[in-house]
Amino acid sequence: MPRIEIDLPLSLQSALEAEAARAGRDVNELVRSILAEHLDTKLHTVFQISTSGALVAGVSDREVSVGTLLEHGDFGLGTFAGLDGEMIVLDGAAYQAREGGAVTQAPPEAGSPFAVVTKFAPDTTGETDAISGFAGLGAACDCFRSSDNIFHAVRLSGRFRKVAARAVCPQKPGTPLVDAARTQSEFTFEDVEGTLVGIWSPAFSAEFSVEGYHFHFLSDDRTKGGHVLEVEAGPLQIAVETLNDFHLILPETESFLKANLDQDVAGALNTVERSH
Ligand SMILES: [Zn+2]
Repeated sequence: MPRIEIDLPLSLQSALEAEAARAGRDVNELVRSILAEHLDTKLHTVFQISTSGALVAGVSDREVSVGTLLEHGDFGLGTFAGLDGEMIVLDGAAYQAREGGAVTQAPPEAGSPFAVVTKFAPDTTGETDAISGFAGLGAACDCFRSSDNIFHAVRLSGRFRKVAARAVCPQKPGTPLVDAARTQSEFTFEDVEGTLVGIWSPAFSAEFSVEGYHFHFLSDDRTKGGHVLEVEAGPLQIAVETLNDFHLILPETESFLKANLDQDVAGALNTVERSH
């Protein structure tokens, strides 16, 4: 997170500290929220396009453009129209990871059927222990998560010994996610500097989100990435934002309106998102 230093009159500093004490809030966090309100920049807000259940059912038509997505967030993940790869949104740019984990920057006119984005403003930062496996990654992040009942954005950066990942490959319209997963490209990166872009979703959201941790990886040189299956890493820098303002944008495409969404979403996602 960038830092700014400003000169404050003593009176303003006293008022700020008094307000922080009165409200029981951290001064840094208070200043951020005052600025966000004044500048009309929402914090702790997550925008999700479509539902995980729709993706499972094969609804992968373009719903929004990358340009529109980036107006709503600078951090997040998703996929592209026709399941043409994995989307990683980091520091205000969207990247597309395709077969073999090769990454290109996605143009603003590219379309997405499903994405989750936020304007990343972490409340908590720190360093994890060494991480081994997807479960170990989750356990490391759990220490920095304040509740099981709200969404969280999680960013981890540093050096990775190993990242096993996948990218979905373009599919015919209407292909269910479980079938698409059969042709996914799987790959492993070794000894690479990069960032995990993650969203943690509560159990109650399993019908429309990806329950638990969902991570996409992007290398620092922006050439490698994908949907994360396994991780081995030393201690990583971690930043976590609580997300308590959830906006769900439902598609109005015919494929969404007519899809049968009465399916076991969590079961299908467990097969598709975690296994390989
Ligand atoms: Zn993913």
